[in-house]
Amino acid sequence: MQIRDIASFIESWAPPSISWDRDNVGLLVGSPARKVRRVLVALDATPAVVREAVAVKADLIVTHHPLIFRPLERIDGDDRTGSLIGSLVRKGIALYAAHTNLDFTTGGVSALLAGRLGLKDVVPLSPLRDTQRKIVVFVPASHAGGVMQAMADAGAGVIGDYESCSFTSAGEGSFLPGAGTKPHSGRSGRLSRVKELRLEMEAPEWKVPAVLRAMRSVHPYEEVACDVYPLLKPADRYGMGAIGSLRGTVSLRDFLRKVERSLGSRGIRYSGSARGGIRKVAVCGGSGSDLTRAAVAAGADAFVTADVRYHGFQEHEAEIVLVDAGHYETEHPAVGAMARYLRTRPGIRRKNVKIHESKKGTNPVNYFRS
Ligand SMILES: [Zn+2]
Repeated sequence: MQIRDIASFIESWAPPSISWDRDNVGLLVGSPARKVRRVLVALDATPAVVREAVAVKADLIVTHHPLIFRPLERIDGDDRTGSLIGSLVRKGIALYAAHTNLDFTTGGVSALLAGRLGLKDVVPLSPLRDTQRKIVVFVPASHAGGVMQAMADAGAGVIGDYESCSFTSAGEGSFLPGAGTKPHSGRSGRLSRVKELRLEMEAPEWKVPAVLRAMRSVHPYEEVACDVYPLLKPADRYGMGAIGSLRGTVSLRDFLRKVERSLGSRGIRYSGSARGGIRKVAVCGGSGSDLTRAAVAAGADAFVTADVRYHGFQEHEAEIVLVDAGHYETEHPAVGAMARYLRTRPGIRRKNVKIHESKKGTNPVNYFRS
């Protein structure tokens, strides 16, 4: 198995095209064609994680945070990033990052955090826009079922928890085959009219090429008439943050205790009082303060995120319980989830590629109590 194969498994869960436009995701160090036998998954590429990769003989480290984030002007062996890049190159270890694409995708960082807190009915807090496309294909009724199935198998037709969603309407198509064509029906040089179905399915933008390839592989026409339209509706499965509900209303004290225990937080900062108790909860793993307004607008009683500033706590004090449970703590569930995801890919199991979850990728932030 090559590094590019591992990348394509990751990208079918966390497509790079949905990442924040100033992010830096994908293979940051190494060659896609390199063979891989062992992978180490961690939140960050730190000196300890690189040493751990050497110890477990990993050929590839997969992290959430990109080691190279701002444009890199020089690789200075004396600074932290430069020396880490140097040791990765010297030891022949590749580095791959799935950052905001893993944040924004279905079942991503915030959904995993929501799951850890026991929330149900979880949906994106701030859905992404411009991700969905409508694919319209004109097909004879005899082949409509096969074409629909091929498109569904390639990832079209998913709406919420429903799969293979399609719509057909009947009509008549016309065509005049040119010289040298081999039309499925009709004859070259003669105008034909045929009964056709207009088959419509939705797909995320990054699946459109695969859906069109699959559709063409079973469509009987030499020249297929098909359209791809952008949809303006927000995505229902991709977005920033997540929101859901606890099974019952709990007091602020019980809620904070739940956050502390389920995330292993050793220090929680919060503002707000939630006199009516807490049931609806918004979350965003990592620095999600910018979503506080969205959490308030969605009617959340509490918003769990990290890196909240003093004025952020102050500004929203009367509107919501704003909880800073730590950057590492709110994102760490994604490390185990990525390791489990890779471990359970049939291709990875077949090739016996070992997936390790880092034990050395620890929180750089300590909490002091006298
Ligand atoms: Zn982060």
